[in-house]
Amino acid sequence: MFKVNANYLKLPGSYLFSNIAKKVAAYQDANPDKEIIKLGIGDVTLPLAPKIIDSLHDAVDEMSRAETFRGYAPDLGYEFLRNAIADGDYKSRGCDIQPDEIFISDGAKCDSGNIQEIFSVDNRIAVCDPVYPVYVDTNVMAGRTGEYDAASGTWSKVIYMPCTAENNFVPEFPKENPDIIYLCIPNNPTGTTITKAQLQDWVDYANRIGAVIIYDAAYEAYISEEDVPHTIFECEGARTCAIELRSFSKNAGFTGTRLGFTVIPKELKAGDVSLHALWARRHGTKYNGAPYIIQKAGLACYTPEGKAQLQEQVAYYMKNAKTIKEGLSQAGFTVFGGVNAPYIWLKTPDKMTSWDFFDYLLETVNIVGTPGSGFGPSGEGYFRLTAFGSYENTLRAMERIRSL
Ligand SMILES: *Cc1c(COP(=O)(O)O)cnc(C)c1O
Repeated sequence: MFKVNANYLKLPGSYLFSNIAKKVAAYQDANPDKEIIKLGIGDVTLPLAPKIIDSLHDAVDEMSRAETFRGYAPDLGYEFLRNAIADGDYKSRGCDIQPDEIFISDGAKCDSGNIQEIFSVDNRIAVCDPVYPVYVDTNVMAGRTGEYDAASGTWSKVIYMPCTAENNFVPEFPKENPDIIYLCIPNNPTGTTITKAQLQDWVDYANRIGAVIIYDAAYEAYISEEDVPHTIFECEGARTCAIELRSFSKNAGFTGTRLGFTVIPKELKAGDVSLHALWARRHGTKYNGAPYIIQKAGLACYTPEGKAQLQEQVAYYMKNAKTIKEGLSQAGFTVFGGVNAPYIWLKTPDKMTSWDFFDYLLETVNIVGTPGSGFGPSGEGYFRLTAFGSYENTLRAMERIRSL
């Protein structure tokens, strides 16, 4: 008789966003005349930029001709894209990353979920709390997290680094030494970030204790302040302790098109075993590459025209972020984030729980957001709104909130 992977059975309840969808659907069914504004889920809404669409069309045409047709992509991804990334994202910032240290993939969710496979199940992971749920859940599936305690919402073997208003949402070195440290900067869900000096401290710490940092930089394009690192490889010593994950989803609208990459420097080793070699082996065995036409579309993001169009899209979302941040502040809320990330993180009023505030917003002003507690126990008492809606809806949402 077959048995299932029992680790899956340890995963609590259903996924945050399906709970939200159910509540919204129930409310809409009961109130068909109400117009709900969704500032909840983290998906982009603007269409792909014209330069990207042109590139996609051209690549599709290439696939129609025998001379230019492409089959399987190279294991690491096409060189044209890896070269553009090495130049555009790393050399341009003075970081030494070679094209063959870049692995093209179909996105950072998959990479952040898959990367744990190359590490021992004995490794202890450390995560920020609140956190992007993928990091923890994929380690649960692998059997790395121990037992779940429903009362506290924590796993016995996971090291949590609370990020709250008290520490300005900057994680502190944990008491126990972790082996794998997940950092997402700028942060989803809190919308906050850390300075380059603070990240340098993390790199020094990881090198000192022999840990690896899995650095999710999916929101890099939203950085607007000077002193915020765009990549962990700006820090000295990162080549011996860091893996960086990047995505084309939030900067270029590829959430449905799918494209991302992982950077593993050749110096990153466990003893004399290179993590680059392990990930290359995994990639070669389990993955057959992002489609040629999508990698071609990704290349368009690095052209001057493409870059300018993407900057406009990011600016559009960040105008929404500013609108939300100012609107909430004027309405008397305590707000964080929204300056280097498309997320606004607010303190719920009157000590309401995150889910009580969710119901209150949905029922009184028909606005959907995301309860902070869905991202971890330290998210309780907070709430996330996103800047990915239309400007018109964002303005209307703020008018409604001011009327509360
Ligand atoms: C949206 C997001 C990603 C991107 O995932 P893709 O699979 O590339 O779409 C990665 N990490 C975080 C924290 C995110 O919020």
